[in-house]
Amino acid sequence: MYKIEKIICRDGQPGSMGKYTLRCAGCGNVLSDTITSCPMDGGLPRADYLKRRFNPRELPGIWSFIDWLPVDGWNPGTGASSVTYKSSGLADELGLNNLYISFSGYWPERGAQMRTCSFKELEAAPTMQMLLESGVKEILVVASAGNTARAFAEVCSITGQPVILFVPTQSLDRLWTTIEPGRVLVVGVDGDYADAIKLAGVLSSRTGFRPEGGARNIARRDGMGTVLLDHVRRFGSLPDHYFQAIGSGTGGIAVWEASMRLIGDGRFGCTPTRLHLAQNIPCAPVHAMWIGLSPEEMNFDAHGCPEGMHDDVLFNRNPPYAVPGGVRDAVISSSGRIYGIDNARAASAQKLFEGREGIDILPAAAVAVAALIEAVGSGAVGRDDEILLNITGGGVKRLAEDHSRIRLECDIRVDVEDSANVLSSIEEMIYA
Ligand SMILES: *Cc1c(COP(=O)(O)O)cnc(C)c1O
Repeated sequence: MYKIEKIICRDGQPGSMGKYTLRCAGCGNVLSDTITSCPMDGGLPRADYLKRRFNPRELPGIWSFIDWLPVDGWNPGTGASSVTYKSSGLADELGLNNLYISFSGYWPERGAQMRTCSFKELEAAPTMQMLLESGVKEILVVASAGNTARAFAEVCSITGQPVILFVPTQSLDRLWTTIEPGRVLVVGVDGDYADAIKLAGVLSSRTGFRPEGGARNIARRDGMGTVLLDHVRRFGSLPDHYFQAIGSGTGGIAVWEASMRLIGDGRFGCTPTRLHLAQNIPCAPVHAMWIGLSPEEMNFDAHGCPEGMHDDVLFNRNPPYAVPGGVRDAVISSSGRIYGIDNARAASAQKLFEGREGIDILPAAAVAVAALIEAVGSGAVGRDDEILLNITGGGVKRLAEDHSRIRLECDIRVDVEDSANVLSSIEEMIYA
């Protein structure tokens, strides 16, 4: 498949060149690894950047926010940013005077150039750059229900770095690149996303491999936080409200952290942007925990969701909810809330958005649109409030007009029960 010269294993050295201090988001302890858990309270690691002033640079895409990304350099071939614009179509429909849309996807008419069509690209590019700069020659291992794997496949094909993707077999059709695939190994898992996470975890704990880290990965979170930074760069103020569909909730945590950094600058007031995070019920663990359901009352089990979801990328069985610095902290300290959106409301919100804004969106993003509709109806947002709606993915149909897609084939197909065999055959393939 691909050859790796010799794997050298050593600890990462976060905060290279003294750009940031890595601290626990709960107790503030200084930590030494960018994807670890705090030994005191299990909190998320967070980058405490030396530069306090928001000062976007003349660099391409998200790299213009490099002061608040855990990297020292950039790859101009990666790092397409979200695009933020003021809505008129949907805004008229909902009677809102200050509705802004952050679009992550492909929509060249508006300057949006993410060819993998979701905001997972905001996470993949800085993650690969951080790994490159750490000098650690380990192979990154990623588990994904589809959108994350697609983003890493494309970014790694551009940078030339190797990556191993664990993807549930029913999500394999979401895997494609728009350029010739590089050193990308696709492992199809007969099971759900949680099974893919489990197998990826076993491989990434072996010498020579590195877990991508999920919500604990500061490059992922600070990459997603650029959604808010792009809004503030363009329009000059922190929005009052932020709407996003969540699975793990990592994007919500990221935007909360970015709003605190902007508050630390001093020019943007002292009220963090209120988070309105939305899950697709009934398969909505974060929403269930928020409203205080017990595990028995939750309508899903160890084998996933009983009903089809409007978008199954939003189902994550182990979200970072109660961990210090996690989703609960982010929502409570921003005076926010979590919505439960059923399939029917998501489907009609999708139709409304696509009709009024003129671009196709991923079904996950429609869940955020439905939450906004609910909030307008209940008076949780005012007509004149500044609202940022994150359209986390879209433009797949628009992309098809301009670019052809290369489907990624499954290199190895595995069963969760059979992990020992699987791991040795993956290692054989890689070191052969
Ligand atoms: C992953 C994903 C989400 C949810 O993101 P979080 O990590 O839970 O913040 C929402 N929309 C799309 C399109 C996604 O791919």
